[in-house]
Amino acid sequence: PGKITDTPPMDTSLRYEPGVYPTEPETILDFSSTMGYIRMAENCNGSADCRKSARIGGTMCPSYMATMDENTTTRARANILREFISRPNRKNPFDHKEIYDILDLCLSCKGCKSECPSNVDMAKLKAEFLQHYYDSHGVPLRARLVAYITWFNKLGSVFPALYNQIITSKLVTHTFMKWVGFTVHRTFPKLYKTTLRRWARRNLPELNASLPENAPVVNLFVDEFTNYNDVEIGIKAIKLLTCLGYRVQLPRHGESARTYISKGLLRRARKIARNNLLCLKDYVSEERPLLGIEPSAILGFRDEYPDLMRGEMKDLAKKIASCSYMIDEFLAREMDRGNIKKEQFTTRPRTIKLHGHCQQKAVASTNPTKKILSFPENYTVTEIPSGCCGMAGSFGYEKEHFELSMKVGELVLFPAIRNAPEDVIIAAPGTSCRHQIEDGTGRKGLHPVEILYDALV
Ligand code: SF4
Ligand code: SF4
Repeated sequence: PGKITDTPPMDTSLRYEPGVYPTEPETILDFSSTMGYIRMAENCNGSADCRKSARIGGTMCPSYMATMDENTTTRARANILREFISRPNRKNPFDHKEIYDILDLCLSCKGCKSECPSNVDMAKLKAEFLQHYYDSHGVPLRARLVAYITWFNKLGSVFPALYNQIITSKLVTHTFMKWVGFTVHRTFPKLYKTTLRRWARRNLPELNASLPENAPVVNLFVDEFTNYNDVEIGIKAIKLLTCLGYRVQLPRHGESARTYISKGLLRRARKIARNNLLCLKDYVSEERPLLGIEPSAILGFRDEYPDLMRGEMKDLAKKIASCSYMIDEFLAREMDRGNIKKEQFTTRPRTIKLHGHCQQKAVASTNPTKKILSFPENYTVTEIPSGCCGMAGSFGYEKEHFELSMKVGELVLFPAIRNAPEDVIIAAPGTSCRHQIEDGTGRKGLHPVEILYDALV
């Protein structure tokens, strides 16, 4: 009973029809490493590793872990892309609402990029899809607001207190944001009273002046989140680096392009990335690396920037990628080389629980973060076996995604934090993760550089 005895013949229902060769669509991101867009989707071998539950661990795939529905797996997304795009019946092969709906719950966490045995990179496939889908349907207002958030922050930073009042007023949170499609259960990140660049203009020369002439130089990438919202983290990062003997430079550059990439506005992201590479090319080298505080921003240099470029610009992107590090990675390397000493830190015992950023897990590693946090004598670090926090940039702010976002947080992360005693420090390098932790548990997460700065003697 239950055995299928009348199966269809082996040569029917094939992925491809004999003699029919799909035409690869033109793409903005470079898919040549997988021989094209369709071939990347086609790489899915159906193994169903993306159907594992949160109890098994890992990051892939948070939407499935929270819903247990096949439609929310990486596999389902790869299947629908392959099915529609390899058999195009429209001028724009991406112009299918069916694909949009199946890709909609992908959090672009990149878990599949590193954990899928075939390395199906759904975040990359989704970003490319969205750009072409919007080419036919226009970019929705909400996606525009998220992508261009730095413009609003820049404008608001002239009168930050007024801006903060406006974005937390009922008129904005309950009327405008609701109308645009954001959840009313979250508040938007507030602006700090100054920007990191303004603070650095006043304070950095003095900090650098206290260093010897031959002090090693590092370039700090002032991402848009640290420059406008998490300024205190940026200040501590600069003070930490200078206290440890590094001369800090803040070369001029634009925003990271992360918000545009996550919303699929790849043409705009390409322009920003190109401009950043040209701005940084004369500053960044192996001896003078580029350090970033927000993982999703700095890791764009290693992950998406080379894919956004072609020709000579791709070579430049690869060169800068090889000199770009999360600040955690740089500090861990310097600790390994003996350039940072344990005596520079307190011996007071502290216990830390770390939630790694999902893109950090996919593109880099949480090991350097664990290393720097356990560097002070008597600091103990354990990594929470969480995957994606569920916020995923703006995903958790979107009203139809809020519930799923919180469900993802409840899988592992929120219970682990709720069970941690009050004196345990919660470390989270990602700005979205820290907001999600606060919204889900009421606890405040700290960036690793804040913890390390506070540990200096
Ligand atoms: S997407 Fe990756 S993990 Fe999921 S079924 Fe396909 S090959 Fe397996
Ligand atoms: S990027 Fe994350 S949410 Fe999207 S398919 Fe991959 S693992 Fe799932």
